[in-house]
Amino acid sequence: MESFSTFNISKQLHYAIEDLGYEKPTPIQSQSFSVIQSGKDMVGIAQTGTGKTFAYMLPLLQGLPFSKEINPRILVIVPTRELVIQVVDEIEKFAKYMDVRVLGVYGGVNMNRQKEAVVLGCDIIVATPGRLYDLVLSRALQLKSVRKLVIDEVDVMLDLGFRFQIINIFELLPNRRQNIMFSATMTDDVNELIQDFFQAPTTISVAVSGTPLDNIQQYCYSVPNFYTKINLLVDLLQKDEEYSKVLVFVSNKRSADLLFTELEDIFTSEVAVIHSNKTQNYRIRSIENFNNEETRILVTTDIMARGLDLDQISHVINFDTPPFPENYMHRIGRTGRAEKEGVSILLSTEKEKGYKEAIEALMEVKIPLLKMPLEVDISKKLTCDEQPKHRERNNPLNLENSGKGFHEKKEKNKKENLGGSYKRTIKKKYKKPKTKGDKNFNKRNKKK
Ligand code: AMP
Repeated sequence: MESFSTFNISKQLHYAIEDLGYEKPTPIQSQSFSVIQSGKDMVGIAQTGTGKTFAYMLPLLQGLPFSKEINPRILVIVPTRELVIQVVDEIEKFAKYMDVRVLGVYGGVNMNRQKEAVVLGCDIIVATPGRLYDLVLSRALQLKSVRKLVIDEVDVMLDLGFRFQIINIFELLPNRRQNIMFSATMTDDVNELIQDFFQAPTTISVAVSGTPLDNIQQYCYSVPNFYTKINLLVDLLQKDEEYSKVLVFVSNKRSADLLFTELEDIFTSEVAVIHSNKTQNYRIRSIENFNNEETRILVTTDIMARGLDLDQISHVINFDTPPFPENYMHRIGRTGRAEKEGVSILLSTEKEKGYKEAIEALMEVKIPLLKMPLEVDISKKLTCDEQPKHRERNNPLNLENSGKGFHEKKEKNKKENLGGSYKRTIKKKYKKPKTKGDKNFNKRNKKK
């Protein structure tokens, strides 16, 4: 493969690459460099771990002349605060020998400090969509000088419901700009955004979703229920030499908290949890501790973990089986990185069997099934979701059985609710709003 010496980049960037110890460009870096440098719009389909941050930053830094301009010229939008911190950190390493001002802004913390920082000026701003928009609305930040827009982890961003914020931001940007987008998966939503806002982009895809990474050994256990999964997990995690740095995935915040409480009883400070309901500081501390190997086990949800650069994970444990097979690919991709061996373990109940089959179909690989260790207790305890739904077959009020209401509706109750009509009727009748406290009502109506 080609080396960085064939890239037409400055000495300063070559020195930074040397310091980082990168020997050769990764595939996404080789393929995107000339496209981004040419100024064309680009869509990169690449997961975290492929070197995508450097893939867009290298040509952008190379093309960024020194300037004292206050307004940013490069805008990088990412879905989570953690990713802002991480990307800023990476850019600072890449631009170590350059005179480049990088600023990260994200929500969940006081905006005044960020306003002060923005006013001082920067060349590159890395932001979450909501906070970026608020800073623009508060007039602290102007986007009129942005010539390069990077949107990273677009699929996560759309998943989190940021579509409108992204579109609002597009509206605030100058028309003459280069758009660069990265997404781990191509979804209908992502495609729609590209169609609406990109101009004949070049698409570069480096990781076909569904390709299991060669250096990951995958196994699965068939487990009857949640609490038996906990027993099995505890049994595995007790082998602390082998399970040296473990990322445990669950699909939602509730299960994450439940699992964390159970594990904390046994492993105390060796375990931490992150999800979007945890405070910003707590999350940052948890990730730092995990990266410094102060905590050995990190429980996380899919969305929280995506995009985080966590190194040297020995084991990924899929506590539940994700319904979207792509999420399994993302999860296991957090281990076995940088040519190190990694292990992934999937815990599946009978109910989750279909999801497991979908994953196997996507990878075209059957995940080897391991025997439940004899010492693991099979729990009879069930979570609320696992408990059988109680049905009274002969109860006439049990509408599920009869398929329709117990008695016919009265005439007045048969009316269809067309939505909001009550408010409209009242307004028409009394010519004033039903709700109290609309102080501007009289003013508005005087003008008419
Ligand atoms: P990313 O996909 O941007 O999150 O990058 C994943 C990791 O790969 C980061 O820790 C980078 O420092 C590292 N990396 C990026 N480019 C290279 C390269 N050319 N050679 C070796 N490691 C790299």
